Parts: sequence; structure tokens; C-alpha cells
Amino acid sequence: MTPVFGYDAVVAGAGIWGCTVARVLADAGLAVLVLERRSAPGGNCRCEKDEASGAEVHVYGSHIFHTSDSKTWSFVNRFTAFNGYQHKVLARHAGKTYFLPLGLALLNSFYGLELKPGEVADFIAGEVAKSGIPGTPRNFEEQAVSFVGRPVYEAFIKNYTAKQWGCDPKELDASIIRRLPVRASYDVNYFADLLQGIPRWGYNALFAEMLHRTGITLRCGTDYLAERKHIPSGVPVFYSGPVDELLGFRFGPLPWRTLRFERETLPVADFQGTSVVNYTDADVPYTRIHEFKHFHPEDAETMRRPFTAVCREYPAAWKPGDEPYYPVSNPQSDALLARYREEAAREFPGMTVGGRLGEYKYYDMDKSVARALETAETFLKKRNA
Ligand code: UDP
Repeated sequence: MTPVFGYDAVVAGAGIWGCTVARVLADAGLAVLVLERRSAPGGNCRCEKDEASGAEVHVYGSHIFHTSDSKTWSFVNRFTAFNGYQHKVLARHAGKTYFLPLGLALLNSFYGLELKPGEVADFIAGEVAKSGIPGTPRNFEEQAVSFVGRPVYEAFIKNYTAKQWGCDPKELDASIIRRLPVRASYDVNYFADLLQGIPRWGYNALFAEMLHRTGITLRCGTDYLAERKHIPSGVPVFYSGPVDELLGFRFGPLPWRTLRFERETLPVADFQGTSVVNYTDADVPYTRIHEFKHFHPEDAETMRRPFTAVCREYPAAWKPGDEPYYPVSNPQSDALLARYREEAAREFPGMTVGGRLGEYKYYDMDKSVARALETAETFLKKRNA
């Protein structure tokens, strides 16, 4: 293999996928050059300290690490301790506050009932029967109504989803709502994963530690796409930027949703009493408010400070140049993605395209780590064969 400036592999993009690949390759003894276009690694997990409140602000929206995959969990725990935070999300609807996800707490307070766990399935079946939904859900709306019935759908899902995705939920893929658990219990842990938490010293420290290893060279403020002409062919490249940008948007851009964040520091110790409150009604223009100090309840000094950092999240239409957050998966974008993938494989045979941007997939952090572990291990096996 031809080394590039003495490197055995190049990783383009120092998000969670790229950093995982880089670390696994370096652990196997390879010299890895990591190129990051932003000024620091961490991708959209990047945090920033808010001086007045002392809170770790998640610059690109709240990131909670959660997984059911013990291999992924063991891997990230090599680089940081986690603080045991378990995510809860509240929902504001028509002037009242409810506990998500869709479970006994929400159903009983929404309907003013005292349903028991064993009564939930029949109750929902009755609601679904009234809603006139066909047997097999064909889109997001039908899937959501078949999970919870129409009244709960209208109150907590329909308008939030329309704000989030900028379209009628009937036009969306049913898989998006399958992310939200529906439970016949008072368990208000937002995720079904028990392995969960926030890096005790923040995400920036996690990424610094992942990359802190002999064999890894990180160059920030360096765009792989601008630099690639200097990389000899034959050097394996692990690219985690957008796949359409890699190919100069030659078939047109893949559609994304972007987010705008409105951040402020307020002169109160606690603004909303929890880390995330969703606003599920159409008349509120944002989807949620994040209050970051609640992600670190173990940090008593920050919790006591008479200031707090909050952030309102506004979903928005995306155009090239904006930050891509959520891939908009539909039959047209799936077909476009397939074209880009084929073209990338043909034009860059030594390249692996991965991560949320590269794969154009709505991945959580743990899924990106798991995919990166698989990618790097498969590469090493082939290399050593
Ligand atoms: N969702 C909703 N109401 C809520 C929260 C979520 O309708 O209060 C729907 C919405 O369509 C969203 C999807 O569920 O896109 C997945 O939500 P999740 O909280 O997993 O989204 P993320 O945190 O990744 O933005």
C-alpha cells in the first residue's frame, strides 16, 4: 500500500463514526490521518460551556447516548465514564404538561382515566377501531394512529411531526414513528435502552480521548474534499461527509431537514425542571426547549447556580450550505441515494462511505458506533487476510 505522508488510511470527518473507525484502525497499529472540516472533532455531538450557568450546551441539540448493544457500550466506556442519566421527555399540549413516551402516564392524564397495564391494549384497540385505519399502515399517520388511536395522535404527534418534517405526516415513512416506544406501563424512560447516559466530563472530552492515541493525527479546519488531490490513490479512505457532496451534487442534492437553535442564558436556577420539553401544538413555532444543566444532575454546583442555559429548536427547510440534520427518506430520495451510492462505488473503489451523512440514514449515536466498528473490523480482516 502507498502511504500518504506516512499514513495507512485517511478518515474524512471526525464525528462519532469517523472517530470510531480511526480508533479501531490505530489500535490495530495503523497510522491514521483524520481530516475534519470544522475547528474541532465531535460532529454534531459537540458541546460548549455556557459560562454564566456552567452548563454543557449541546450545540447541535440534545444528545443522549443510549444503546442495547453491549459491544458498543463497552467501546465508548473505554474513553469516558457515563453519568447514569436516564432520559425523560415531557410534552406540552393545550396548556398542560404530560410525560412521554406514549404510555400509562400519558394516556391516563390525557383521558382522565385510571387504566391498569392489562387494560391498555383493549383500550387502544377500541380507539384504533373508531379511527377507521386499514389493517396494514401505509404511511406515518396510519402507523401512528394504529399505535395510539386518533385523539392521542392529533394531540401529541400530528402537529409536532408536521413542524419537524415540514410536510403532512401522510407523506412520511411509517418507520419514523417506530422510534417512539408505546408502553402499557408507567415507565417514562424515553428510550427502551437501559445502557444510557451522558459522558461524565462532556462529549468533547470523549472525542478527545478517542483520538488521543499513537497513530492518530487529527487535522481540524481541513476539508477532505479540498485536500483529496494530495492523497495518493490506493490509500483507503473512510469518508463520513454527505455522499451527494462527495460527487459534487451531480444528480441534485439529497433532501434534508435542518434545525435553527435560539439559545439564551436565563437568570433563574431552573427554567423548566427537566432537560427536554416537546411542544406538540401547531401554534408554538418551535418543537422543543432544551435545558442543558439537567443532563448533569450529579454536578451539584452547576445545578445550584442562579443561571440556566436553554435553547429553542426550530426545524426548517434545508438548502445546500445549511447544516444537514435529518435525512428525508421517501421513494424519490431513496432512488437518488441508490444512484449516488453506485456512482461513489464506481468512482472511488478504495473508499468506504459511512456515518449519518454518508449513509443518509437517521442514525442514533450508538448505531453509528456499531456500524463503524463493523466497518473497521471488516477492513482489518481483509487487510490481514
Ligand atoms: N414525535 C412526535 N411527538 C413528540 C416526539 C416525537 O410526533 O413529542 C415523532 C416525530 O415525528 C419525530 C419522531 O417521533 O420525528 C421521532 O422522535 P424522536 O424523539 O426520536 O426524534 P429526535 O430526538 O431524533 O429528533
